[in-house]
Amino acid sequence: MAPGTSDRRKLTILGSTGSIGTNTLDVIAQLGGRERFDILALTGSGNVELLARQARDVGAKLAVTADETLFAALKDALSGSGINVAAGKSGLIEAADMDAEWVMAAIVGTPGLAPTLTAAHRGADIALANKECLVSAGDLFVKAVSAGGGRLIPVDSEHSAIFQSLERDQRHAVERIILTASGGPFRTATLEDMRNVTVETARAHPNWSMGLKISIGSASMFNKAFEMIEARHLFDVRPEQIEVIVHPQSIIHSMVGYSDGAVMAQLGVPDMRTAIGYALTYPRRTALDVERLDFAKLARLDFEAPDETRFPALRLARTALERGGLQGAVLNSAEEAAFDAFVEGRIGFLRMAEIVEAVMDRMAHLPPAAHMDDIVAADEEARRIATELLS
Ligand code: NDP
Ligand code: MG
Repeated sequence: MAPGTSDRRKLTILGSTGSIGTNTLDVIAQLGGRERFDILALTGSGNVELLARQARDVGAKLAVTADETLFAALKDALSGSGINVAAGKSGLIEAADMDAEWVMAAIVGTPGLAPTLTAAHRGADIALANKECLVSAGDLFVKAVSAGGGRLIPVDSEHSAIFQSLERDQRHAVERIILTASGGPFRTATLEDMRNVTVETARAHPNWSMGLKISIGSASMFNKAFEMIEARHLFDVRPEQIEVIVHPQSIIHSMVGYSDGAVMAQLGVPDMRTAIGYALTYPRRTALDVERLDFAKLARLDFEAPDETRFPALRLARTALERGGLQGAVLNSAEEAAFDAFVEGRIGFLRMAEIVEAVMDRMAHLPPAAHMDDIVAADEEARRIATELLS
């Protein structure tokens, strides 16, 4: 039931303490907060202080930290509040299994898959920020959502833009999906410059303020690689229909090209709250206090072709799409392992893509996943090979 009616809606936010999670709570507050919504569960991991504060503010029924060692700290922080507390993977599942009609999936990385699937199975509408669900589990994830009967609503700004630009009864005429990419902090850097960059320079995104993982992914363009695979599954298009164009201002969030030559785009200032608000109130639009575009101030929008030599992640996404099967899961898990190694200072920035490519090649001939267990097995094997290559 869309807000704006008298019915209250039950919501859960998986990953409420992160960048998407805090923006989601801001949108909920803007749309009436506790007056209009029942927040059933909030989950976080390391930041239990913020989690406890959020849970008290919105009157959540359950607060969960993914980190079992922080259970006591969370319990302490919520003592006397009447809010239930849980921890670990089972706690995340418990949160996802409460009967919220709308679940924001905003945990970062592979740990988001199991709880998001739990919410999908019981038929919740899934507002999907955790693109890793689609990169790793692809068709199985889409099938799980549709079997549960809930809707899958993209939150990723590019995919929200495409979702908004798709004319529902004209799907036959969709020729191409054009994903925009800012190009990240190394858009104009040379390969030599990129060899020695630090985590601090890599995480400094020119336009968006986001969590660490996706910020580094924007610098390497692995984030865009993930988004190509995400688009393939969300919009059921063929790999060759997905294009990437670098657009440094991040004002056009993405576009749909139709067979009559028309291109529909969605524009806005880079602020995730528009996409989150759209996912929350879809198919209605609602008023949000976000900055408006000032076209005169903007003056121009620039575009350039992506450079797959400096950003091999895009080429690897195409390889994964062509090979199909478990290659998305392999790409996702190998990238997570390589990302950890880069952030911990064990490898240089450019080595990340080399590791991912090597793992993908070693696991190129696996049959498609028939079951989620196949995804879990591929994840473990990809991490094992990545670790071997990293040592
Ligand atoms: P953040 O790092 O800011 O937040 C991640 C959230 O996941 C936090 O709540 C964090 O808890 C929690 N978390 C961390 N580790 C675990 C774990 N092992 N198990 C369960 N929960 C965990 O990330 P973002 O908000 O930036 O990104 C979230 C997702 O949304 C990602 O999939 C990202 O790709 C996607 N996304 C993000 C965008 C953005 O603008 N930020 C844009 C588009 C997509 P804690 O902080 O308490 O440790
Ligand atoms: Mg995005």
